[in-house]
Amino acid sequence: MDKRGGIMAGRGLRLIIFGPPGSGKGTHAARLGPFLGTTVLSTGEIFRKAVGDGSGLGRRVREYLEAGRLVPDDLVIEVVRRELESLGDAGIIFDGFPRTVRQAEALDGITRIDGVINMDIPKETIVRRMTARRTCEGCGRVYNLLVLRPKVDGICDECGGRLVQRKDDTPEVIEERFRVFQEQTFPLLKYYGSRVPVVRITYTDPAIAPERVTSMILDGLAKAGLYKREQAGHPL
Ligand code: AMP
Repeated sequence: MDKRGGIMAGRGLRLIIFGPPGSGKGTHAARLGPFLGTTVLSTGEIFRKAVGDGSGLGRRVREYLEAGRLVPDDLVIEVVRRELESLGDAGIIFDGFPRTVRQAEALDGITRIDGVINMDIPKETIVRRMTARRTCEGCGRVYNLLVLRPKVDGICDECGGRLVQRKDDTPEVIEERFRVFQEQTFPLLKYYGSRVPVVRITYTDPAIAPERVTSMILDGLAKAGLYKREQAGHPL
């Protein structure tokens, strides 16, 4: 292990953070960066930014995002392949990808995966938290009015951008995204369960402190041999 907890020096750790919509994948993928030396590759963020910029990609994916349906596999895989080329040997946490067995198989052909963090959070907990979620229009940073409040209401701490509710965080779209998760993405757990260590995280309190969850994840990764806890790196 190298100092940042990567499996080998010079080659970063590659993990997938897995879980239903609103289970905190994006938040925790970002929070784990300083401990694991990883960067986040979020397909949802890439697509939302493309839609916001009105780019060619944005025009192709917009309808899917607004309906809470999955963007076609070939397009997602192409986008990830391009991103990975620019990231070299960097440690990565994949957030929101893969979402189908076909995407997972394609990823296996592009890079190795060292482990999976499975955010196994009950739906009731998630729905209570999702309605409190806000995202910065400027930099994409995610807040939660229950636990991760901005310093000034409605304004991003990082860039001063306006905080808005995601268009796909409405009750109808949330329901559809859960259905899609259950049907198309959930089977991936079995796919990875027979290939790499899967660290299961669960809790029911919608207002749980993010530091506690980060700590639970790091403990789980340490037990799986994917992270060496340094005293200075303790999140609590
Ligand atoms: P997320 O932020 O990960 O919840 O993603 C938001 C939306 O982007 C999803 O509801 C899908 O429409 C689309 N999306 C993100 N990642 C993928 C993926 N790996 N495969 C298909 N669609 C995706």
